[in-house]
Amino acid sequence: MSSNKFSNRTNNWKKNDTVSIRITDVGQNGEGIGRTEDGYTIFTKNTVPGDLAEIRIVKTQKTYGFGRLMRLLEASKDRTEPFCPIAGQCGGCQLQHMTYEAELQLKENKVRNDLERIGGIVTERRTADAGSEDQADRTGNVRMEPIVGMDVNRRYRNKAQFPIGEDGQGNPVAGFYAGHSHRIIPCEDCQLGVEENREILRAVLDWMKEQRVAAYNEETGKGIVRHVLIRKGFATGEIIVCLIINARELPRKDALIDRLSVLKGMVGITISSNTKKTNVIMNAPVRTIWGRGEIEDILRSEAFGVQVRYSISPASFYQVNPVQTEKIYQKVLELADLSGTETVMDLYCGIGTISLFLAAKAAKVIGVEIVPEAIEDAKKNAAMNGIENAEFYVGKAEEVVPALYAKGAKADVVVVDPPRKGCDQKLLDTILQMDPGRLVYVSCDPATLARDLKFLTANGYELKYVQPYDQFCHTVHVETCCLLEKTVVG
Ligand code: SAH
Repeated sequence: MSSNKFSNRTNNWKKNDTVSIRITDVGQNGEGIGRTEDGYTIFTKNTVPGDLAEIRIVKTQKTYGFGRLMRLLEASKDRTEPFCPIAGQCGGCQLQHMTYEAELQLKENKVRNDLERIGGIVTERRTADAGSEDQADRTGNVRMEPIVGMDVNRRYRNKAQFPIGEDGQGNPVAGFYAGHSHRIIPCEDCQLGVEENREILRAVLDWMKEQRVAAYNEETGKGIVRHVLIRKGFATGEIIVCLIINARELPRKDALIDRLSVLKGMVGITISSNTKKTNVIMNAPVRTIWGRGEIEDILRSEAFGVQVRYSISPASFYQVNPVQTEKIYQKVLELADLSGTETVMDLYCGIGTISLFLAAKAAKVIGVEIVPEAIEDAKKNAAMNGIENAEFYVGKAEEVVPALYAKGAKADVVVVDPPRKGCDQKLLDTILQMDPGRLVYVSCDPATLARDLKFLTANGYELKYVQPYDQFCHTVHVETCCLLEKTVVG
């Protein structure tokens, strides 16, 4: 069955062949996909469905290969000029060469296709002229709302992490790793990040140059500054900086404090020591060298009259797109449809962001999260907001929830917001046993969402509502919020 894996000739194509193909689809990582006339599939970065592209084959596998775009013979109507000069090299944005409209459509289609292909769930797009609700209901298909995009889809990220290196002439540089590599492409003004990042990076780089503080060199393991992490509370304007350093203490720190502390919004300067040869950015506690160790931010839902203040340290997990996060959390509240008497479980709760939103409308909220520091933050945040009806547990949801259930815990509504791999089967089994009336599923991966929905809809739940969100504009990622209700028998 299998071809000789050492042969570099696959089907009729080999490395360095050139071919003209029409791009028809988009792959997992944003690459355009097209087929040759003899049916060989080729993935090519920086191409868009609709393009007619001359490509050179750079790598071949048995049934598919990878190409490099050499020349555009016909540009797709969905193609646009990337707004960032390093979009093609940086691994961060995969879809900048696509119009935002086409990007949204692509993401919505991805959710719809995954639900159908993996979950066996057929959805129907709700449009203004789709007719009455009854009409759509009669088809038996699940209603899916059009994806919620952003009007302003740049500068949406509240957190940035810049690797620091050296330009070959002794000058420190900040930027991004080229896709799949550790080569730094200088860039002090990522268009997804806040404008303040630029002057903060400038201040750090100027300080390094003036005070002769060297950038960390991954090969030699020498040098000091590895990364600069910047976080901003959009609602409060508060900014915190963390330098990740290859040393116990930061040399020449007063000169850095002089430069950074005067910048607008700055509330804290922190360091975290990392002296290991590792790809892990932060692996030691954060220490404050000036000001505070955390920023505060506020998320609100005007419709529900809910407002929660969060304290966020540089190491905590916090949603990076607060504008879309507020929309999603408001949707979670809407779908949870709480009357004030319910017990709600918020599983994979992080620092309790959703839990504290729900607490205002529920009798009791139980949050479960695997990272102990996040649960510490969740408890602190509950106290800071005077919320007394939220309990938090550290551990794997698939272990903690069965243990709580064995002790008699129940939930009327369950909210899950798992990482990309989706929910653990043991957790899904326990949720079925707990028998909640409603289940709100927030997902960052449509494929695992579809897998979990297939199981839940085969076991007594009905999918009622699907709403995709563009939470990570210009990247391939898509967020989805779903409601499941217990199937009414009879
Ligand atoms: N709901 C939160 C966090 C969502 S991200 C928010 O909106 O901010 C997913 C979270 O799941 C992360 O905090 C991660 O640490 C946590 N996690 C990953 N695996 C887990 C598991 N098996 N059990 C519980 N939590 C887990």
